[in-house]
This record gives sequence, C-alpha cells and structure tokens, in this order.
Amino acid sequence: MQSKGTEIVQMDVNKLLEMLNKAFADEWLAYYQYWVGEKVVKGPMRPSVAAELSEHAADELKHAGMLAERIVQLGGTPILKPEDWYKATNCGYDAPQYPHVGAVLEQNVKAEQCAIGVYNGILRTVGDKDPITQNMVREILEDEVEHEFDLQALLEDLELSLATLRKAA
Ligand code: FE
Ligand code: FE
Ligand code: MG
Repeated sequence: MQSKGTEIVQMDVNKLLEMLNKAFADEWLAYYQYWVGEKVVKGPMRPSVAAELSEHAADELKHAGMLAERIVQLGGTPILKPEDWYKATNCGYDAPQYPHVGAVLEQNVKAEQCAIGVYNGILRTVGDKDPITQNMVREILEDEVEHEFDLQALLEDLELSLATLRKAA
C-alpha cells in the first residue's frame, strides 16, 4: 500500500533496507556474543563484568527490534533465517573461546568499534533523506558509544587492579 510515511523517504529504499538488514544481522550476533559471554566469563571482577555484558546483550536485542520494526515500516522483511545473519553481517561473530574477563572485554570492545563505524556510515549515507531512520540510527549509535566506553572502563579497572597486585607482590 502506498503510504505518505514511506513517500517522504528521499533515497533508494532498497539500498536503505539492505543497510538496515545488515545491521540487523550484526545486532543478533552481538546479542549472542554478549549473552553467551556473560555465561562463560571468569576471572577478576567477574560479577561487574557479567552484569555489564548482560546489560549490553539486552541493548543489542532492543536494537535488533528497532531495526526490524523500521524494516517492516519501509516495506521490507527482516532476515528470517539465522543462517543468513552470517552472510549479511558487517562485524561478524567472535566466539568467547578463551573466557578470561580481559579477553572477553577486548573482543567486545572490538565489536563495538565495528558497530560504531557501521552506524556512523549509515548515518552519513542517510543524512536527512530519511529523518525517521536518521533518528533511530543516532539513538543506536549513542548506545554503541556508551557500550565501548563502559567496556574500556572495566578493562582499565582490571589493568589497574592487576598492576596493584604486582606492586604488592
Ligand atoms: Fe547494537
Ligand atoms: Fe553495542
Ligand atoms: Mg553499559
């Protein structure tokens, strides 16, 4: 059905949908990376690290939901088969095979940095050609920047506590 809401989008909707679906795949993989990371992580500061990972998992799932809703609004279909997430993803999936807090935090910092690059790119491409998507992407980007910051702060605390231990020894 023709709608005014999609009529005002001043860019190639198929191109936009492709970008949004790729980000959607990223979000599911990011969600799982955090979710399973929280289950297996061990080492110093485990409770605070686990709490942060679980909070971020919830945020990534929320982002997947926001993207799916916008995709449907624009007349598209969110990726229906999990096996297609791997084909569409920009940032991939980094399994927490070595579950030490430091390693898991570093993996997730890398993932957040990729996400920040992706959303910043989408924001530049969309500009004000689609104000609704622009707002949504800005909101997601803000979360990803906060995620990177929170993880880096935990890494810093971890390094400081290890340095203190070395000094005391
Ligand atoms: Fe996200
Ligand atoms: Fe994130
Ligand atoms: Mg956080």
